Amino acid sequence: MLEWGPHSVLPSSPRLIQLAEEAGISDSWTSAAGAARRRYVYRAGKARALPGSPFGIPFSTALSPFGWLRVLTEPFRSNGGSEEESVKDFFQRRLGTEAARILADAMVAGISGGVPEDLEMASFAPAVAEMERKHGSLFKGLISRSRPKGVPFRGTGTLKTGMQSLPEALARGLGEAYQGSNTVTEMYRENHQWNLSVEGAYSGDTDGFDGVVLATPSAVSAKLARPHNLRLSGLLESISYASMVLVQIAYDASKCRFKPDGFGFLVPRQQSLQILGAIWSSSVFPWRAPSGRDLATVFMGGTRDPLLGERSDEEILERAIPDMQRAHGSGFEADWCEVGRAPVAIPQARRGHGRKVYALRNECSLLDGLELAGGYLDGISLENCARSGQWAAERLLQETSS
Ligand SMILES: Cc1cc2nc3c(=O)[nH]c(=O)nc-3n(C[C@H](O)[C@H](O)[C@H](O)COP(=O)(O)OP(=O)(O)OC[C@H]3O[C@@H](n4cnc5c(N)ncnc54)[C@H](O)[C@@H]3O)c2cc1C
Repeated sequence: MLEWGPHSVLPSSPRLIQLAEEAGISDSWTSAAGAARRRYVYRAGKARALPGSPFGIPFSTALSPFGWLRVLTEPFRSNGGSEEESVKDFFQRRLGTEAARILADAMVAGISGGVPEDLEMASFAPAVAEMERKHGSLFKGLISRSRPKGVPFRGTGTLKTGMQSLPEALARGLGEAYQGSNTVTEMYRENHQWNLSVEGAYSGDTDGFDGVVLATPSAVSAKLARPHNLRLSGLLESISYASMVLVQIAYDASKCRFKPDGFGFLVPRQQSLQILGAIWSSSVFPWRAPSGRDLATVFMGGTRDPLLGERSDEEILERAIPDMQRAHGSGFEADWCEVGRAPVAIPQARRGHGRKVYALRNECSLLDGLELAGGYLDGISLENCARSGQWAAERLLQETSS
């Protein structure tokens, strides 16, 4: 099974679980193999395991001993970065220069395809920023974190039927009211209601709606909002997205010198690889590849290489396969590959993003019956996107029923 978008979830609440239950597919949740707890960073020519807890630090070569010693002083560091502090500055302040250069770089590439000096910590990882505010230390925050209730698996999980099966089941539940595969080209106001002009299977103009949630990428929402609020449109337009290129590779892990036995590895810059990292898909979710075969999903592009998606499949594979060979050592051989492109993949919460979101919400509140939702507003994980949509719908219901 090939996933071209989100592969898995790491829930901090039962929100997605409840959504799947409402869609009638709660049986489809499954947990990742135990190996998924092991995560790697590529440094100095090798994928190196990250410690699973502070007790594993002496055995990890992901950072130098000096780098780890500095990390261990984290609980004694004083608090207080600026509101718009970058992810890099936050890591540097709390965990040291080496952690910022290796760990922050790898983490940001893996989550958002961005770079840590561009992104705002409070918007990129609000839960981590909150640990500092609440507990005075990330270590203390991690220790006091409790397992979310109502989640049927521990840690990472996925839908056996594929991540796409959740929106598909939700759409099925709406019956004829669901009109997917349509492009909204315009929104206009008539008799205190919103009308949409659509192209596609149901092309034409819709009947009036009391309320609309714009859950499209920010550039599309900007275009639709432009005739109604120019400032809102400008703010939406100013949010940039990273593009992503994915390469699915079938291979035989048993032949590799380095045997994948974890979730995957991430690559900080300056490590002479061009890929951002890879998920060992069949090591995390064994049914994703036929028995005796292995599957890896390589992530490339992002803001490190924004034009990569314009290159041919051959050129992309010429970069991906040698990098995978370097990371896995001799014996890595691609038996089969497929390239996928996501030109507008992940919104970048650049410095000043929190301020921008505040202004966006204010401008949007000036328009009756209109709400915004999406990863650029409330966080990019699937859980946050689901929450964003639910909040927007609740606000609309409240507004239109009052
Ligand atoms: C490669 C990749 C891997 C990821 N992995 C994970 C992961 O493992 N776990 C995780 O939690 N998150 C992951 N994410 C992040 C997560 O998938 C996204 O942040 C999330 O799906 C974004 O949701 P959204 O609703 O904001 O936007 P989208 O999912 O982009 O939804 C926007 C919708 O608007 C529609 N649309 C666009 N234009 C129009 C128009 N004119 N008219 C009508 N409809 C329109 C689109 O068709 C689309 O359905 C990943 C993202 C990517 C790209």
